[in-house]
Amino acid sequence: MNAPILELIGLRKSYGEQEVLRGVDLRVRTGELVCVIGPSGSGKSTMLRCCNRLETPTGGQIVIDGQDIMRADLDINLLRQGVGMVFQHFNLYPHLDVLGNVTLALRRVQKMRRAEAEEVGREALTKVGLAHKAANYPNQLSGGQQQRVGIARAIALKPRVMLFDEPTSALDPELVDEVLNVMRALRETGMTMLVVTHEMAFAHAVADRVIFMDGGVVAESGTPADIFERPQGERTRSFVGRYM
Ligand code: ADP
Ligand code: MG
Repeated sequence: MNAPILELIGLRKSYGEQEVLRGVDLRVRTGELVCVIGPSGSGKSTMLRCCNRLETPTGGQIVIDGQDIMRADLDINLLRQGVGMVFQHFNLYPHLDVLGNVTLALRRVQKMRRAEAEEVGREALTKVGLAHKAANYPNQLSGGQQQRVGIARAIALKPRVMLFDEPTSALDPELVDEVLNVMRALRETGMTMLVVTHEMAFAHAVADRVIFMDGGVVAESGTPADIFERPQGERTRSFVGRYM
């Protein structure tokens, strides 16, 4: 089996008095696609945001690619290039065209020259099937296309791991599949992916492992068949029962 590329060990996070993550243990191996499911408020987004230091954990450890990412001297820009993130709301810059959105970090953070950045950006857009939209602005695209640009923007940086936080939750139902298909294709390239999702059919069909989060901990984890067809915990059963 491949070595873990992302490891959460006893991860804790509090906001004031409220402890949102109460000791999360999770390991993702190179090339794995792990889906995280669980009720709203269970800490899924907080967990992902800790992995690229959008949040600072209050305890435990996060090791990515053999590096403790809580180290005081960590280069956060470098971390974020290696850990791509796709958000529910695409967070594209409205005043930049598609290619501008995809190349921004390449130019500002990686200091690439325009021509090279645009080549890398077009390559990423080709992977999400949107090379022909390079000169369009976000408001000229459908939600599904905007999210595919969000994915292209992340993969342009050649990350080691991709984190997805409910990437299809803001989309009209008929646009969900085009985004999930891009994610499937990305997975076929060997990308390591940690995906928070409510798309149970996707998790069931595509994930290597499924994590059920509840109350700030990993309440249950297993293969998709374990979680969806023979859930052990009462809470897991009632959560997945609504979809099966
Ligand atoms: P999920 O993604 O599973 O719905 P979240 O990680 O977004 O859960 O939130 C878990 C809990 O943490 C919720 O109760 C939420 O209100 C709280 N929370 C999240 N972010 C913040 C924040 N920045 N400040 C205070 N509380 C927060
Ligand atoms: Mg969330």
